[in-house]
Amino acid sequence: KQVTPKKDVYVIASDSAFAPFEFQNENNQYVGIDVDLMTRAAEMQGFTIKFNHIGFSGAVQAVESNQADGMIAGMTITDARKQVFDFSTPYFDSGIQLAVKKGNTTVTSFDDLNGKNVGAKVGTESADYLEANKETYGYTIKYFDAADQLYDALRVGAVEGIMDDYPVIGYAIAQGQEIETPIDRIPGGQYGFAVKQGQNPELLEMFNEALAEMKRTGEYDQILATYIQDGK
Ligand code: GLN
Repeated sequence: KQVTPKKDVYVIASDSAFAPFEFQNENNQYVGIDVDLMTRAAEMQGFTIKFNHIGFSGAVQAVESNQADGMIAGMTITDARKQVFDFSTPYFDSGIQLAVKKGNTTVTSFDDLNGKNVGAKVGTESADYLEANKETYGYTIKYFDAADQLYDALRVGAVEGIMDDYPVIGYAIAQGQEIETPIDRIPGGQYGFAVKQGQNPELLEMFNEALAEMKRTGEYDQILATYIQDGK
């Protein structure tokens, strides 16, 4: 079904670095699963988009303050966020995980983080998880605005561990980053494209229509396979 756009251009906010969902390739162009899904949705439904890769918490704020019409940023659909956003049909199953530096043998459970620093990106599901469990495990949370700072902190030993979405950690490992995941994933999160609650309903509908069509034709699987080889 074709839906009629109501704006000449829809501004889409996104993360600045969240591979394989959005990241800059060797030509400094943004690519990734989110970028491809949104770009194809716009082509299929005949609307125009402008991506702003401003970081995850920046994207949340941009949509909340009407500086962006929607956001696609590996954003987990949660009940708390549903108070503020309307979400598309889920497009990816995810979850979070702890990562440590490769060769770290001291951390085999969350209890081993007692007295240590643990990092996460501001405003993320990982940050919420760490916040909710900090009394239990006795770590100190260090917040970072962007993934490069978060992963750098782990590399230089400023934090003992980091929490991030597991497909993102898996991709980093596949790309040769010297990290490992000693503790099982915490599954359950699903990603959705989001608009501010009650706003741009046609944009959400166009994304949902295009997503359903991409799933039907197999294009959705092709986009995933472009970036994720082992189906993780
Ligand atoms: N899925 C996580 C969240 O929604 C992280 C998203 C991100 O860092 N881009 O909080």
